Amino acid sequence: MRDETLAIRLQTERSQYKEHSVPLYMTSSYAFDDAEEMRALFADEKEGNIYSRYSNPNVQEFIDKICAFEKAEAGWATASGMAAVFTLFGSLLSAGDHIVSCRSVFGSTHRLLVDIFPKWNISSTYVDFDDYDGFENSIQENTKFVYIETPSNPGLDIIDLERLAAICKKKNVLFVVDNCFATPILQQPLTFGADVSIHSATKYIDGQGRTLGGVIVGSNEIIKQVEAFARHTGPAMSPFNAWILSKSIETLPLRMEKHSQNALEIAKRLESNDKAKWVKYPLLESHPQFEIAKKQMKLGGGIVSFEIKGGLEAGRNFLDKLKLFSLTANLGDTRSIATHPASTTHSKLTPEQRLDVGISDGLIRLSIGLEHIEDIWEDILQAL
Ligand SMILES: *Cc1c(COP(=O)(O)O)cnc(C)c1O
Repeated sequence: MRDETLAIRLQTERSQYKEHSVPLYMTSSYAFDDAEEMRALFADEKEGNIYSRYSNPNVQEFIDKICAFEKAEAGWATASGMAAVFTLFGSLLSAGDHIVSCRSVFGSTHRLLVDIFPKWNISSTYVDFDDYDGFENSIQENTKFVYIETPSNPGLDIIDLERLAAICKKKNVLFVVDNCFATPILQQPLTFGADVSIHSATKYIDGQGRTLGGVIVGSNEIIKQVEAFARHTGPAMSPFNAWILSKSIETLPLRMEKHSQNALEIAKRLESNDKAKWVKYPLLESHPQFEIAKKQMKLGGGIVSFEIKGGLEAGRNFLDKLKLFSLTANLGDTRSIATHPASTTHSKLTPEQRLDVGISDGLIRLSIGLEHIEDIWEDILQAL
């Protein structure tokens, strides 16, 4: 089946009530028929649910859908995107290990790398996103994996998955991709040689700004290690959130098409507006990595960034003038959202430090929603 069909038809087996829409299995544990069944389940001799920290039908349905899109053998769902990142790191890393990554990773991932993991003697090296020799040369004896995001947030830089996967293979380290911006529908890192793909399901997978969630997918072998860690540390996704997310997925292919269509159109219109110094969108021909984006992404996704002329003040003014767009710390919602990183998420950095991570003072990040394209554009135009 194709993604659009899988998204809808991959469902938990019907119960005796023959429900058409999968019900919510809000239970913390599961009953055993007898002592022998209980023994067999605990001994891993029989498949089945024991306790919802380990598994749950709603959670499994959500995982199965993501695995089908990503062409992955197995997966594990978590309470948030950061729980997925932390769970993966915790599963794979030991004291003394090293990670190679990019400075442009998600803010909380950056904090894990610079504040939290060094406490356990796990170090990391940052490489510029387009410095492939840098990636190769930074891989040390104790490097466990290379960890990247593409497209990156908010710079929308694109890393060549196939090329970096080949480097990781050659150096015998794992390759992990935070695939949140592209979603499992628009990009499948595993098919380009990555070992693990991670998502914050909070963004497009829910897509309606309702719930947090995260998921890790990869080989059976890697997910076994994740399971061994997660069963006993408890980052589990709640059945309720899994139920919401699995239903969200029914419209994910459709939503991503429309998000991408609206975003490309907005990017093109912004590009010919003289208030914008530059515009970045993966599938704009002017994007420096357009060819790579075209190779590995089915569509460009819903995020557009642009530099407003006039710097910090102009950026703040633009946000204040918006009427339809929401000012909120989320992305990937049906509602269009605007953020100004220099005065918010990155305001504690100096202008030089900001430029280092690709954030200029007039940079605006737009998460283009599913409202009518002309309403979205009219709002941007009047604010400009
Ligand atoms: C939001 C986000 C995360 C963290 O996810 P939460 O669900 O907020 O914990 C990780 N990576 C990227 C790229 C994100 O956008």
